[in-house]
This record gives sequence, C-alpha cells and structure tokens, in this order.
Amino acid sequence: DTIGRSLDRAIEAFPDREALVDLPSGARWTYTEFGDAVERLARGLLGMGVATGDRVGIWAVNCAEWVLVQYATARIGAILVNINPAYRAHELEYVLNQAGISLLVASLTHKGSDYRALVEQVRPNCAGLRSVHYIEDGSWDALLDAARTVTDAQLAAVEAGLSCNDPINIQYTSGTTGFPKGATLSHRNILNNGHRVGELIGYTEQDRICVPVPFYHCFGMVMGNLAATAHGACIVIPAPSFDPEATLGAVERERCTSLYGVPTMFIAELGLPDFAAYDLTSLRTGIMAGSPCPVEVMKRVVAEMHMEQVSICYGMTETSPVSLQTRMSDDLERRTGTVGRVHPHLEVKVVDPATGATVPRGTPGELCTRGYSVMLGYWNEAARTAEAIDRGRWMHTGDQAVMREDGYVQIVGRIKDMIIRGGENIYPREIEEFLYGHPKIADVQVVGVPHERYGEEVLACVILREGAGDLTLEELREYCRDRLAHYKIPARLQVVEGFPMTVSGKVRKVELRARYAG
Ligand code: ATP
Ligand code: MG
Repeated sequence: DTIGRSLDRAIEAFPDREALVDLPSGARWTYTEFGDAVERLARGLLGMGVATGDRVGIWAVNCAEWVLVQYATARIGAILVNINPAYRAHELEYVLNQAGISLLVASLTHKGSDYRALVEQVRPNCAGLRSVHYIEDGSWDALLDAARTVTDAQLAAVEAGLSCNDPINIQYTSGTTGFPKGATLSHRNILNNGHRVGELIGYTEQDRICVPVPFYHCFGMVMGNLAATAHGACIVIPAPSFDPEATLGAVERERCTSLYGVPTMFIAELGLPDFAAYDLTSLRTGIMAGSPCPVEVMKRVVAEMHMEQVSICYGMTETSPVSLQTRMSDDLERRTGTVGRVHPHLEVKVVDPATGATVPRGTPGELCTRGYSVMLGYWNEAARTAEAIDRGRWMHTGDQAVMREDGYVQIVGRIKDMIIRGGENIYPREIEEFLYGHPKIADVQVVGVPHERYGEEVLACVILREGAGDLTLEELREYCRDRLAHYKIPARLQVVEGFPMTVSGKVRKVELRARYAG
C-alpha cells in the first residue's frame, strides 16, 4: 500500500489516540489532528510546485515537523531525502546536487552550527534548489499558506496516481565505512518493514514509543515512525538530538512502553549517576540495533530498565532496514546472544564470499538478504548497485555472520573490520565482548593497526569507568592471559574520552584505525 493510505487507515481506526508528542516544543497531536496537519503540509508542497517524483530534502534535528514532512511528502509521492544533521557545507552541496533536491526543509541552527548560513553558502552552486523553508521562521508558514491554492480534487488526483512501488525515500547510509550511499526505497519497502517490526514487538494503540534515535536514519523514521502509525501507537520525541537525561525523563513523564537506541545510547543511560532515580516501570519493550549489542548491556537493559521484551534487530539502510529480529517468545539467551531470525517474507543466507556458495550452519560467512525490503538501488549509482545486489536479487551485506542450527543468527562483524594478524583471522567483536567484563572498562572498541611483522596488530581503545583509576597495558594483558588466545590479546592500549561517531550512533572504526595507525 502507499504510506498515505496506510495513515488514513490509522486515522480511521484510532481517531482520538495520541499519535505524536514533541516534548521540546510541547506539541501533541491525536491521529485526527496529525492527519490534518499532514494534509495541510501536503497541499502546501503541491502549492509550492512540488510534483510526484520530485526530491524534497530535510536537514533537521528530531522535531514534530520532521515527521509531518515525512508523511506529507509520502502523501503526494515526492521523494524525501534525509540529510545528515552533522554535514558541513561541501557534503550538503554534494547531496543537494546528487539527489537533485528542489525544495529543502531545514532547521535554522543545530549544536551551534548555523544551518541557514551553510545553506546560503552553497545555494549558488545548487541550480536545482528552488525553495528553502526553515522550520522556525516565516518561510515554514509560507509553505503552509501555499496549501490554500490547492483544491481537494487536485490532491485526490495526485494521490490516485501513486503506486506502492514508487520511490519514496532516498535514505543515506550512516557513512560508517566511507562516504554515505543513497539507498532508493519505495513505499512497499519501508511501509512493510515498519509494519513487521511493530508486529513482531506486539505494538498496539496502547504503546508509546520513546524515539531518541535520529529520524534522519531508518531506525527513527521506519522502525520508529512507520512502525508506530502502522499499529496506532504514539511517537514520543524526547529531545532534538540524543540526550540520556531527556530520554529517561521522557520515558518517565510520558509513561512510555518502548524505548529505542543504539548500544552506546543505552550505555550512556545506564551510566547516568542518578539512573536509579528514574521511574522506568512503564517500559515493557524496545529495540537495540545498529551495531553489535554487547550481551552485558542487553542483560542490564532487561534487568534494570524493565525491558523484559526488548528486541534486537539487525538490518541495513539498503534493506529498509530490518531483516533479522528476535521474537517476543525468545528466551534471554536468544534475546541477548543473537540478532534473532529472519523476518516474515524475507530470505537470508550465509555464503562463502569467495565462491558465493551457502556455507553450512555454524560456519561464518557473508550474510545476504533477499525479498520485498531490498532497495530499488543506489540513487543514480548503477555500478555500485550492481556490486551490492547480485543477479539473483540478493543484497550482499558486507557483514560476517553465523547461522546457528536453530536458525538464529549471530553477527560476527563487518568483513572490512576483521583483523588479520600473522595469518590468523581475528574478529574484534569477540575481544570487545570479553573486555566489557573488565571492571575498569566502560566501553571498548578493538581495531587492527599496521604492524611490520604480523601485518596487523590488535589495538584496544578503551573508555574507563568513572572513578575506576588508570588502566595499564600490562594489567589489561594480564586480565586476558589464559582466557583469550595469545594472538587475540591486545598488543596496544589507548585510553580515550570518546569514540568518533556517526550521527546514527555508530563508532567509525575507520577513523580509529587512521588515528592510531602510527
Ligand atoms: P555505510 O554503509 O555508509 O558505511 P553503515 O553500514 O553503518 O554505513 P547503516 O545502513 O546505517 O550504515 O548500517 C548497517 C550496518 O550496521 C550493518 O551492515 C551492520 O554492520 C550494522 N548493524 C546493524 N544492526 C546490527 C546489529 N544488531 N548487530 C551488529 N551490527 C549491526
Ligand atoms: Mg553499510
């Protein structure tokens, strides 16, 4: 179905239930009010000359308007392009031109950077960009006012012409391993995926989902927004960008039943000095996803945050995003030790990257996904699309995985992150999981750095627990002795304050490697 028609059904079924709460602005919408606001904005876009298939950019932090733009563009079949809030001028210019954006909605400022100044700086180089609307000033009202010129018949005619297979979103990947790629996704891709994610977590109109992850990423806009509206649940926005205090405060105040985050967000929340003071008893579930979810962290989330039914999801932007998810009936071992099993209506397989043959269960190989959720392709990048999706329509994820006998999958790590030391393959994840158990270590990332004799050597980058005192390399190695194979024991230790992160909350190991290569 189309996203617009799916929203109509939710409005009909749950007219008076709350759909969206934006805590920073205090705005609240029921489904009926939300639907009216979306329709007005959809008309405004038409009034501004936006047609089906045109690209509309959004460069904004999390706010209610973000969600309105997502649904309003979908209603008229305009393609929403999510622009990374961390971008600087040259990246902004690249994406405006690469995606051919004609109308841009932006925040005025974010974290001290003046978005308006950056937009004005690049505008002369972006010939296709016809209008820009800032959420916090009169140009946003002008967009809404343009709705007046559009009749019911005009809007209905546009909607009648839409198909669920139309592209609806150019969703850029996180840029964890390099420059982000623009995955072109259809209504069918993301609406179905959002629906399934919500179904497997058992969402109903009683659920209130706290979404501190950025909407610019599919975690927020698909697993958050589309999953919520598919089941009549409510989206709660705690803050413009991630803030652990605001997040737990929102859960408490809004009695949220579900909480989202990448592992580092949960680590930050659990580490708050007054963590125990928050009343989190309303929580029953939530999703941890996006990067390896340490078993220790999952266990604490279950035991200390009341999220007994927490779900791990695995996916990637190119597959809309989720393809593997734990189930409500899963025991703690499956819920913490695997990323679940394949989603309904999708296929996964694990192959030998060299031959493409499926490997036996229990053997590591490259994970591949096939089915309705695989993207239409990278926007205007046919060659890269052909590298990622093979002739049999399998998406090659670049992730190393093991499928267990019971069909549950464990992610070993990105193939590119594997360390090869003197001919031995080392998976950083295994060492990280082990080091999480060290009493002085709050967070850890393991990468390979060049070594004359072995080719690569193991480096552990560590964030220390507050008040735990120093950690020396000798101490660390002693801790690993007899418990890790000798070649896996870190040869170097770097104590750091934080890791280089993407906006979606992933650690950029590429940058860690580059930083400490010497
Ligand atoms: P880029 O492709 O631009 O380098 P990216 O791969 O991080 O960035 P996303 O599409 O946001 O961009 O992330 C998908 C990747 O995130 C997956 O390929 C996988 O490596 C990782 N990932 C997602 N969920 C999990 C999970 N539950 N466990 C381990 N890794 C995960
Ligand atoms: Mg990727």
